Amino acid sequence: MPRRHLQSQYLRNLKRLLLAIVGITIVGLGIATSLLLLKERQTILRNSGANLQAIAVTLSKEADATLDHGAASLERIKPQLKFDDRGQLQDPDAIHRLLETESNFYNRAIGSDKFGHMEVFDANGFVVANSDIHPFATTNVADRKYFQHHRINPDNRLYISQPHLSEYSGEPILHLTKRLQDTEQQFLGVIGIHLKLSHFDSLYGQLDLNDGSHVTLLRTDGWGVFRYPQMEAFYKRSLAGNRRFNKMLAQGSGYLPINPSPYDGVRRLVAYQISDSYPILNLISVPEAQLLRHWRRQSLRTLSYATLGGLMLLGLTLFTYHQLNRLQSTLRASSSDPLTGLANRRELDRRLTDEWRRARRKRHSLSMLFIDIDHFKSYNDHYGHQAGDDCLVRVAEALQQQFRRGGELVCRYGGEEFVVLLSQDSLTDRPEQMADQLRLRIQRLGLKHDYSDTAEVVTISLGVATLIPMDNEPATLIRLADEALYQAKRNGRNQVALAPTSP
Ligand code: GH3
Ligand code: MG
Ligand code: MG
Repeated sequence: MPRRHLQSQYLRNLKRLLLAIVGITIVGLGIATSLLLLKERQTILRNSGANLQAIAVTLSKEADATLDHGAASLERIKPQLKFDDRGQLQDPDAIHRLLETESNFYNRAIGSDKFGHMEVFDANGFVVANSDIHPFATTNVADRKYFQHHRINPDNRLYISQPHLSEYSGEPILHLTKRLQDTEQQFLGVIGIHLKLSHFDSLYGQLDLNDGSHVTLLRTDGWGVFRYPQMEAFYKRSLAGNRRFNKMLAQGSGYLPINPSPYDGVRRLVAYQISDSYPILNLISVPEAQLLRHWRRQSLRTLSYATLGGLMLLGLTLFTYHQLNRLQSTLRASSSDPLTGLANRRELDRRLTDEWRRARRKRHSLSMLFIDIDHFKSYNDHYGHQAGDDCLVRVAEALQQQFRRGGELVCRYGGEEFVVLLSQDSLTDRPEQMADQLRLRIQRLGLKHDYSDTAEVVTISLGVATLIPMDNEPATLIRLADEALYQAKRNGRNQVALAPTSP
């Protein structure tokens, strides 16, 4: 491979390598940074999920304790309730006093006022005793959900209502109720106690929740029991059948991947815990934006640094690329002729030395065509220097069209003289035949030359030499071809002359 080509290819490869390395580095850097940031995000969400789950467990235990207290109150009263054969409550005065004492029990005992009114209903839904007023107004609750629930469900489980306003105090409350039944599980009525929602308000209020975060209590049938902070929509629809809700029911405890809330569409991380004792679950939800606020800020900073680094690298690369381009054109300029763009004499010397060595190693022959335009001085004199230049360019183009293969080199030797170097690999024909084809090609260009003694158009004379490099010098080939050219001139121009085969 000739040196100029090697150098230029080396530079081209270097430029490609540079672009590839920088491209891979930038893309790799981008991917690595993104992966790192995503991993960090996952870690934050995983840790937050675990922390929130711990809070959900605590809240669930707290809610269980409160419900235990309510259920215990109901259980303490139940054995005292006696109904006659007609379903009438016996000794309602005594029961009223009992209820009064019981409903104040926690208030007096532990200074908490989470429980309020207590009441007993008969099998038809009529109030038959309560803790506040005696005698009481006739109220019927046969149409209430809790009453209907107990009437058809013969079990002793605590029923937790959805929130509503107490008919006695006007406060928002939950109704905690139990079924009353005889030994044959015959429905006798319902006993209930009011659990004030202000209890959960003050309890959850202590959690110091951030904006958009909330704590909720849901029944396992999907209906909302309590939400802090309050939200109307929460109580108006059941989550029964919701895929994520079903997952919570199936798992019992854990946290869910971030998803939009079914109530307000805000994306939140939700941790949950189902109660061990009651059909309720505690949820704590924190918006993704809250959890990832710091991460977002940090990621933005990291990404800007990475982008800045990438841009700097890109700038440096473009600068280097530009320098390499300049080096490449300098290299090209130093080895080519500015008028015709052909290789110059310096390049011929380099190529000849390289090809000479290669041919000697392979014991191949090397051929040279020495070309000179006939009567070019008179062409220049009559048509002008510019026309002379144009003529040189046209001849150069024709030369290049004929010799464009790998092992061929076309060179402007100087003035109106050209040289073609042919290695044995590139010989498609005998060199003198190729020379004659070139002569005809130039003649056929039909460049008018009225002042030539030889023809009416521009013609060339060619000297052809062929050598197998041995002890001789590369310059020998030039000398032989030049001598042959001289012979062609002497023989009358517009022809090919052959150098003797052995010098
Ligand atoms: P011969 O047939 O024996 O080759 O005669 P010639 O007139 O071609 O040879 P000579 O060496 O006397 O003339 C060469 C001329 O080529 C001289 C010069 O005016 C012209 N020449 C050399 N270099 C350039 C060039 O770069 N541009 C132009 N326009 N002319 C050039
Ligand atoms: Mg000449
Ligand atoms: Mg000439």
